[in-house]
Amino acid sequence: MSPEAEPDAKPVDPSTGRPPSIDRLARSIADTGLPHPLLIDAARSAVVEAMTDHDPGSVEIRARTLAEATKKALVTDVVNATGVLLHTNLGRAPWGYPIGDGLAGQRYTTLEFDLETGGRGSRQERAPALLARACGAESALVVNNCASAVLLAMAALARGRGVAVSRGELVEIGGGFRIPEVMAQSGAHLVEVGTTNRTRVADFAAAIQRPKSDIALCLSVHRSNYRIEGFTESVSVSELASLGIPVVADIGSGLLDAACPWLDNGPPAWLQGEPAARQTLAAGADLVTFSGDKLLGGPQAGVIAGRADLVESCAAHPLARALRPGSLVIHALQDLALAYLSRNGSAIPFWRMATVSVNDLWTRAKKIATGLATHTVSVPGGGTLPGVEIPSAGLALAGDRVAELRAGSPPIIARVADNTTVIDLRTVHPDDDPIVTSAVAALEPAAEPAALT
Ligand SMILES: *Cc1c(COP(=O)(O)O)cnc(C)c1O
Repeated sequence: MSPEAEPDAKPVDPSTGRPPSIDRLARSIADTGLPHPLLIDAARSAVVEAMTDHDPGSVEIRARTLAEATKKALVTDVVNATGVLLHTNLGRAPWGYPIGDGLAGQRYTTLEFDLETGGRGSRQERAPALLARACGAESALVVNNCASAVLLAMAALARGRGVAVSRGELVEIGGGFRIPEVMAQSGAHLVEVGTTNRTRVADFAAAIQRPKSDIALCLSVHRSNYRIEGFTESVSVSELASLGIPVVADIGSGLLDAACPWLDNGPPAWLQGEPAARQTLAAGADLVTFSGDKLLGGPQAGVIAGRADLVESCAAHPLARALRPGSLVIHALQDLALAYLSRNGSAIPFWRMATVSVNDLWTRAKKIATGLATHTVSVPGGGTLPGVEIPSAGLALAGDRVAELRAGSPPIIARVADNTTVIDLRTVHPDDDPIVTSAVAALEPAAEPAALT
């Protein structure tokens, strides 16, 4: 890396009356491991700070502190000990990019190359086709996330026309995904049907038959992160399918098949009632849309799967080009889809963690710190399955120790409740147990066993 020129506006070092050498200062903190331009930024800021405080002697320490702070602020691996399987702030599903031989990330790929003909191929041919195969869809298309999937499907299939949605399903997902706003962006107009708590198929039929309503499709949206309880009624996908216009079901969470054939013991009890792509299509949905990084357990992506002609319309829309994912994601989704098709749930980190037995977790907890083992509960998270708890085990530390655990290297993200810090091992990779062991041992004063939760 070549050294950078010094900045134009140079502060003056009062001891010499000359500008301090930013470049020399930057080199003196090179052992922090940051690239030179970032060292220059730290050095420059340190000089300004030191001059402002009339303390030129502190400049190197300040530069080092700033450089360390920059380094700490980079995206870094952490140990997720929160028990939230799909922790939105920690990147939802943990999925390592291309597995292969470890060199995969440094090589070219056949992303859009046809080995047979030597000509151009399509990135949408392989991973999407494998995902379609795994959920029983005719065809599929992969985009950047589920928000893109819904936007594209509405733009391609209903632009300038109406989309009927139940008033009980006008959801907001974290991060600003709101059905009415996505609809507006797509150029389709929202036709609200029924009421917040009760919507019947007759409400949809009436909306479709209303003169000049011009409804292109019905959109069913999974209430991913909330429930409506009490005096309620909602319309199933099969009822919507009886109305004679296309049905798009935004299932959000990306469960491929309610039978979970990739799990040795079938679906876990807590998955009860979660809509799955295969069953939703079988019930009559023409398309389903879902996320790659929720219950699918892969990288951030969005999938549109279902009728080939409708998928083709989505693929042909100009927005498809703007919303397409890159080779890292396509490659990762291909590995993921192959794991599903091989019925190998243990190759999918999310499913491995979601289904590991409490006994196994308890054994690990005992091994890490015998006196601290505790039973606890994990949650699926990621705006899926609200209210669902998964029995788990981990460690309980008296008091609030989350900040200390977070300051470690690598940081351990734990949760605290009732003045007890819980390290939930369900979301901790077993290979990281030694990290937890030393972090817990290093806590001062020696943590005492807390009441079992
Ligand atoms: C999570 C979710 C989305 C948004 O998915 P992203 O992949 O985060 O864009 C859309 N619809 C539903 C029903 C969801 O659950």
